[in-house]
Amino acid sequence: MNSNMTLVCNVCEGETDCRFGYSNRVHQPFSFACPHCASLMLVTMDTSSPPQTKFEFKGCEPSEGQHRLFSDHKNPFVDLHLDFPVRFGKYIIGNTPYMMAAQELNGTSESVAEGQAKMAFHNQRLDQLNYFSDRTDEIKVIIRLYSGKNKQLFKKRVSDFLNKDLGPSLQPQDINAALYQFLTFIFLPFFHLGEVKSLVDWITEITMNLAGKPLDDFVRNIIDTGFLSTLQKDCLKLYSDIYSAELPLRPALYLDLIHGYEKAKIAARVSTKDFQSYKDLYKDIIEVFSRQLILVAGINNLIHRGDINAFPTINGGTLSSITKFSEKTLSERFKYLDDCWYDIDREVIDTEVRNSIAHNNVSYNDVTQIIEYFPDGGRIEPTPAQQIYFLDFMRMILVAFREINNLHHLVKCLFYYEYLILQNPERKNK
Ligand SMILES: [Zn+2]
Repeated sequence: MNSNMTLVCNVCEGETDCRFGYSNRVHQPFSFACPHCASLMLVTMDTSSPPQTKFEFKGCEPSEGQHRLFSDHKNPFVDLHLDFPVRFGKYIIGNTPYMMAAQELNGTSESVAEGQAKMAFHNQRLDQLNYFSDRTDEIKVIIRLYSGKNKQLFKKRVSDFLNKDLGPSLQPQDINAALYQFLTFIFLPFFHLGEVKSLVDWITEITMNLAGKPLDDFVRNIIDTGFLSTLQKDCLKLYSDIYSAELPLRPALYLDLIHGYEKAKIAARVSTKDFQSYKDLYKDIIEVFSRQLILVAGINNLIHRGDINAFPTINGGTLSSITKFSEKTLSERFKYLDDCWYDIDREVIDTEVRNSIAHNNVSYNDVTQIIEYFPDGGRIEPTPAQQIYFLDFMRMILVAFREINNLHHLVKCLFYYEYLILQNPERKNK
């Protein structure tokens, strides 16, 4: 279903023809920049009393002029849909974002049936997001309670939320189990569950094989220094932040289904929020990921050389300890992860974008949704700009967050190693 409407900008009084596609959720907040003057226009659809839709406007008003067909192309045209990337261009009757997505899925799949199955999968994930969309605050409270003192309250709230008896135990391993069950349940639409499960099996196998003094010392050290719990806390904060970004992440989730999707190949729009709201999120994700790599490196060194601090020799030089590794920049860290047990999707970690944002060498065009960044910015001479779409940027956030979630399971497994192996009375007495 779609609604067509001509909106008049409150700032420049320019007219824009808009087509709003409906998602399966009650409140649908759209926003976009006026094509004439780039001022922000916000439209919220409220579908709580069907078949009526209530519209609320901010920064614009619906045109009072006579109803006309958009096909006269008198005004600039903007397609809007929360669930799909939306192409720029002229109004074409019938080419709604939903129809375009359905055609694209069929065209990039081996058969129409496969395309339809992908669309069904996308809808299923969106329904999961919709289901919890009015419980966002509750989700954030539960995540916050985990790091507080009252573990009983945390477990009770998780149990109520999942509608599941989690038993009375307040042992750390059971508190941890409640946390990861909760996260898996809520954040399922963002991950590939099968991949996460096989990774957890792989980590368990590796830690069991490595069990012994060097791993014991490593785990004790990262627990005693508070490194592991601080890292876990910072990971948890990102889960809350990602939940706040679920609306602009929807079109990015859709891109999972496009076989061979490449950045910056398709000019497409996100129909809600903007780059400014999320630029720090990517930076924060990369920062936490960079710290998670310390765990990856320690275990990699143990596997290959039996010593947490033994790094490979790179270009005739090496690092004397894991502390030295932690002082390296992100791109340098990758070099020391030789033949790594954990397969990092290097494509998703774009240090140029990250650095450009961190140094404020970035500009955003609200109308075209193009982010220009300057990897060599900060010099007197102008430097060449690189470009990505806001949609691609949200996709980078999504894929980088998957890395955070994967390695958050490593954090979990190392805590279990402490609780179940190092704290095991039989083992302690050895
Ligand atoms: Zn305007």
